[in-house]
Amino acid sequence: MSSYQAEYSVDEQAAIDKEFTRLATNNCYCLDNKSIYLDHAGTTLYAESQVAAAAEQLQRDVICNPHTCRLTGDYVDQVRYKVLEFFNTNEQEYHVIFTANATAGLSLVAENFDFGTSGNFHYCQENHTSVLGMRERVQARAIYMLKEEQISGRDAASVASVASVNGSFKPAATLDNSLVTFSAQCNFSGYKMPLEAIAGIQQHGLPHGPGSRISGEAGMADPSHDNNFYVCLDAASFVATNPLDLQRYQPDYVCFSFYKIFGYPTGVGALLVSRRGAEAFGKRRFFGGGTINYAYPHAMDHQLREVFHQRYEDGTLPFLSIVGLLEGFRTLERLVPRSTTDGGGGGVATMERISRHVHGLAQYLEQQLRELKHPNGQHLIELYNRVGYEERSRQGGIVAFNVRTDTGAFVGFGEIACVAALQGILLRTGCFCNIGACQRYLRLDDALMDGIYKRAGRICGDYFDLIDGQPTGAVRVSFGYMTRREDVDKLLKMLRLSYLATRPQQRLQLIEEQADELPKALKEWAQRRPQLLQLAIYPVKSCAALKIEGGGANWPLTAQGLQYDREWMIVDMNGMAITQKRCTELCLIKPHIRDDQLVLQYGDLSTTVTLPLSLADQAENSSRCRSKVCRQPVEGLDCGDEVAEWLSGYLGMDGLRLLRQSSRRSSPSGEQQQQLSLVNQAQFLLVNRSSVRSLQFEESLDETVDRFRANIIIDTGTAFEELSYKQLTIGQVQFQVEGPCQRCDMICINQRTGERSPDTLTTISRLQSGKMRFGIYISRSSTANSKEQLTCGDVVLAT
Ligand SMILES: *Cc1c(COP(=O)(O)O)cnc(C)c1O
Repeated sequence: MSSYQAEYSVDEQAAIDKEFTRLATNNCYCLDNKSIYLDHAGTTLYAESQVAAAAEQLQRDVICNPHTCRLTGDYVDQVRYKVLEFFNTNEQEYHVIFTANATAGLSLVAENFDFGTSGNFHYCQENHTSVLGMRERVQARAIYMLKEEQISGRDAASVASVASVNGSFKPAATLDNSLVTFSAQCNFSGYKMPLEAIAGIQQHGLPHGPGSRISGEAGMADPSHDNNFYVCLDAASFVATNPLDLQRYQPDYVCFSFYKIFGYPTGVGALLVSRRGAEAFGKRRFFGGGTINYAYPHAMDHQLREVFHQRYEDGTLPFLSIVGLLEGFRTLERLVPRSTTDGGGGGVATMERISRHVHGLAQYLEQQLRELKHPNGQHLIELYNRVGYEERSRQGGIVAFNVRTDTGAFVGFGEIACVAALQGILLRTGCFCNIGACQRYLRLDDALMDGIYKRAGRICGDYFDLIDGQPTGAVRVSFGYMTRREDVDKLLKMLRLSYLATRPQQRLQLIEEQADELPKALKEWAQRRPQLLQLAIYPVKSCAALKIEGGGANWPLTAQGLQYDREWMIVDMNGMAITQKRCTELCLIKPHIRDDQLVLQYGDLSTTVTLPLSLADQAENSSRCRSKVCRQPVEGLDCGDEVAEWLSGYLGMDGLRLLRQSSRRSSPSGEQQQQLSLVNQAQFLLVNRSSVRSLQFEESLDETVDRFRANIIIDTGTAFEELSYKQLTIGQVQFQVEGPCQRCDMICINQRTGERSPDTLTTISRLQSGKMRFGIYISRSSTANSKEQLTCGDVVLAT
């Protein structure tokens, strides 16, 4: 219905853009292109002037431990005032306890809330896992799970009638205390809970019954009414882009993290506690540092501080970060100033404008996504939200969805993340630490959850994106104050180009054209037995291949895989492994093996550098280093200064080192690990040349094959035959199939030139209707005989 209307003036937009120039350069850890950042629900980005000002402050001032220096203590209290002002309240109404983050705030509430003997803990299904964690700490009689509707009511209007009367509801001394926790904004869907519900719950308890009991005893009393009710609001997602007015809504506890509001610093959050909420806190069971007036070592005797917040701030506060918060607030208010041109007398304040801005973008995106259809009428996007995007009071700047092919099949979110990353778009995929919301929106019943997490072994953060064709998570796009409409358009363009099916006849035509090109070769291969064509060893991770090809050429196998494969790796001055994603020139470093030495050559230049192959020669005076590859720890031996300088020189990066892995990642054992191995640690990647042939680009078939960086290249004559293999034998060696390879970050780099062409991937995705399969991961079925080898020309037998 509505189209996007800019919230900012041209000048405002220009000032904001100037703060994020780093997105236009190649400095992103996660991305390799000009970056479009769409994960503000994960963290928003800090403005460059904010961190410059913070650095300047640190350089200029001597800031001491607040326990030593009154001035720093006063400064920290100044920040408390600012926090209270930000939420339109004051120190008469709320206490500010600085915490490490929102989660630490929730944990503090769980630990200190006094449930008495019959108080209950109620939480919402659509909650962050940090709220679920409260279950382990609370000392409640019973624990109940509510559905969102049981808090908000079926229609928001009926809830809205229970407006706050701007006062706390006096708890009855004769009753025990119950605690209700929910998110002000769902970090999965962006749904905003009607905050009017808070006063209703405090006054009357739960309007729609107690929900389902998760643990503990039921007791005689009605758990939805017969207690004093307190509300803990998880505001982490909400306050990042919305104003929270604590005059109007008065939850007893509010927690959040500052990085979600202005990006920097991390490590600081706050728990706001109302006067009423403070009374429901029991005596603390821990103290330390500034939380006490005194504590005797010789007796169990201590006295907590009088000032409320001091009792809960254990140890030394992150005072250097806290003093930097003021600059964060100032930056926001400078970049998105109160507008005086509309909104009546007072104008529209910063957070209100940001809320409008992100909602406007989300509404625009949702509307565009809804209109995307395949030529056969099937919708491209399945959207996950509760009430649509019309009402800003009910929906924030988050859009969650999955992608479907023209047959209605789901495309895995892992692949969307990959394709997006290749275009420089960073978004989040999975369940976003909100399994309850995931379950709700994806309609996963409890049995299916067991199937996903217990039987299939999915864990948070992995890439088991589809199980039996059912998505286990979603794609989430979320906006911040600096997100531009062009960013949203780029995302839309990516989805259109990569996933909207072309007209059916066009696709047929494409396939026929390819068949025409190679009719003779195709026929020839069809008559042959599948065979091993080529082996590729990558001695230095991410560098060029050492190819073994031609009938009879062979290569030894060790317990880890092909001998010397990925045994060396290049790390930067921080010890981080360098991959082609960060430095495409790596593919120009060519390995040769001559006279028991590894020789590295840069491009076609004649200068080389030589390393001993024998580990014995190597170990002498080399230091040990640790690094991580694909989250797996590896331990390596440093290969010395000569090669380090050679690499730094040719790759144009200071401080590079070459490591030789001394403790190789062991091959997975046990069922659980076998599952995990799919992601990144199978021994071999096998590619079928016939499958690659069906994807022909405007380059030689060899060049395309090289892009996949496989170890074992076979040719079966039939495209995608390998995807049906379960086990196979090459020559004398047996392998089992671990699963299809969905790794796709390298394929956009031409391995001969180092040139990047993101279109490669989208073309492939298109030809395969969104199901990209580049080969299969296989591992040895038995490594008993470590003397085995593979020989080019060996027959490949699939079983
Ligand atoms: C981000 C978030 C959290 C957790 O915040 P931390 O900073 O990781 O402690 C909790 N709840 C919601 C709704 C969030 O969005």
